[in-house]
Amino acid sequence: MGRVKVLVVEDDPSVADGIIDGLGDAAFEVHHSATGAAALSDFATFAPDIVLLDLGLPDMDGTDVCRALRKQSAVPIIVVSARGDEIDRVVSLEMGADDYVVKPFGMRELVARIRAVARRTNSAEAPVGPTERTFGSLTIDTRAQRVSLAGEDIHLTPTEFELLVYLTEDPGAVCRRSDILNDVWDTNWFGTTKTLDAHVAAIRKKLGNSGWIESVRGVGFRFGQPA
Ligand code: CA
Repeated sequence: MGRVKVLVVEDDPSVADGIIDGLGDAAFEVHHSATGAAALSDFATFAPDIVLLDLGLPDMDGTDVCRALRKQSAVPIIVVSARGDEIDRVVSLEMGADDYVVKPFGMRELVARIRAVARRTNSAEAPVGPTERTFGSLTIDTRAQRVSLAGEDIHLTPTEFELLVYLTEDPGAVCRRSDILNDVWDTNWFGTTKTLDAHVAAIRKKLGNSGWIESVRGVGFRFGQPA
């Protein structure tokens, strides 16, 4: 496997230079787009493994770029924002972003996040045991990384997929928030509990029934078939 390709979408040259240097040092292959329009056209030619997306761009809102990318690809997207508010974070995750970092951040943190997202995305390439799980009308193929409901494909982001797979490891069992965060997100960073809620909400919406994932107050979540 070649180097992980990261598309850095950032209009501020000083921020972009720092990120590009840091990711280069960490052996990533980096391409830089300074506008939303450039990002959308560079995405097709560069074919990145991961997109690092600034929300404050001169020509488009970053969330629109996120939405446009998500329409055409399941590429992992990490949103980078100077705006640390909860609304931004939740909106980004609902828009299909996989992770969220707030400026200023350290390069070590950023590299760790990118590696974690890359690992999640690649983990489905190594099948272990049976690769298909069926729960009533829901089928999850961990090898092909596909989910279908009553025969219709359901498009989940890599993180949503990983979370659903985690919850279905032991149907009916309660999964604790801290365990899910450690296992699916690797690190326990500020805001992850909201991140988890946003991803659960996104999966429920895509499955068309919140009964698939039951909230267990104060503890976590439980997978089951809706009544
Ligand atoms: Ca910016």
